[in-house]
Amino acid sequence: MTTATDAETAPETTVSTEGRGAVRLQGVTKRYGDQVAVDDLSLTIQPGEFISLLGPSGCGKTTTLRMIAGFEQPDEGDISVSGTSVRGIPPYRRDVNTVFQAYALFPHLSVAENVAYGLQQRRTPKAEIREKVTQALDLVQMRRFGDRKPTQLSGGQQQRIALARALVNRPAVLLLDEPLGALDRQLREEMQLELKLLQSRLGITFVFVTHDQGEALSMSDRIAIMRAGRIEQLADADTVYARPASAYVAAFVGQQNFFRGAVAESGAAVSSPHALVRGTAVTLASTGQGEAAVRPEYIRVEADNGGVLPDANAVRGRLIGVSHLGDTMQYLVQLGDDQSLIVRRPTPDAPSLTIGDAVVCTWAAHHVLLFPADEAAREGGYVAPPTT
Ligand code: ATP
Repeated sequence: MTTATDAETAPETTVSTEGRGAVRLQGVTKRYGDQVAVDDLSLTIQPGEFISLLGPSGCGKTTTLRMIAGFEQPDEGDISVSGTSVRGIPPYRRDVNTVFQAYALFPHLSVAENVAYGLQQRRTPKAEIREKVTQALDLVQMRRFGDRKPTQLSGGQQQRIALARALVNRPAVLLLDEPLGALDRQLREEMQLELKLLQSRLGITFVFVTHDQGEALSMSDRIAIMRAGRIEQLADADTVYARPASAYVAAFVGQQNFFRGAVAESGAAVSSPHALVRGTAVTLASTGQGEAAVRPEYIRVEADNGGVLPDANAVRGRLIGVSHLGDTMQYLVQLGDDQSLIVRRPTPDAPSLTIGDAVVCTWAAHHVLLFPADEAAREGGYVAPPTT
């Protein structure tokens, strides 16, 4: 880590008008042998923005982060931080710092010594170190733990210390690589709130790597959804949830039910074996194979009274699972050997149904998104099988 002044005076730099904390990747490619880990990726991150890189394992999130940090060098393209190209600048002289999932604290040093370590290496005056360490520990509410050893702390507390250590010199950009991955669910959710608060208070740019879509949705100003080394969609949480740019994004963010089949009605519907599904086309051609996506919360389920079904957006099935999720009820409806639907209703309005019941599911066309078929991505395993 370094200060902006150090970075700006580094020899190979070009200074632009971008503010401190801006990060720009332009046409960045990284290969490991034949493997393209990051593929011609361009991304501009605003100063003070909280951006998440989200995607399945192996899509290039960590490699992207490591290139911004300086632990890896791009084969092609350029990266700038605060308007300055970081090409050739070693990690410790970039105005960024990284927090990893493994806290990497020195076990033989106290908490305060761990936080002070980087400042000592830079021969910062003692009084200044003391002040900065106290401030950093205050930031993460850990001041009273300064004399403890890392082994005397819980996982969540150790991660707070790792954060304090990364923030002690107030970098312009904090890079976080699955920092909450080792914590249990409740602590994880608490830390998500804390991280977000901390970030807005400090105004530091956060680049957060995660494969957990809930985490990305709850914290980020924008989310970059990555696939095979590229960004498939870059948008805020509302947009990626409500208007996913592709079936891949639709499947990765939140839960979806997919109907697959031939495109029908000149691109206004997909004719699946179980139903004709009408919807809103996102990028669908008027012929070929397509998929229709509808979220569990938009499907109604009721007992089958034997009446005639509408010509589209309705299916008969059998209830094979009911789960109480607290504020919602979740139903699993078997349509045939090859497909089931997940349905969620708010608990107060949930129909009273029993496993084995014959049911009818219906949904409105304006809640259906239609995409071109994307079997290649599916074979990569991005769709989680429905579970009760
Ligand atoms: P995960 O969520 O599992 O950490 P990721 O999205 O962060 O995955 P990367 O770690 O960036 O993905 O890896 C991208 C691709 O590059 C993967 O196919 C990976 O196997 C490969 N890769 C990453 N680091 C190396 C390396 N040092 N040597 C060879 N291949 C690598």
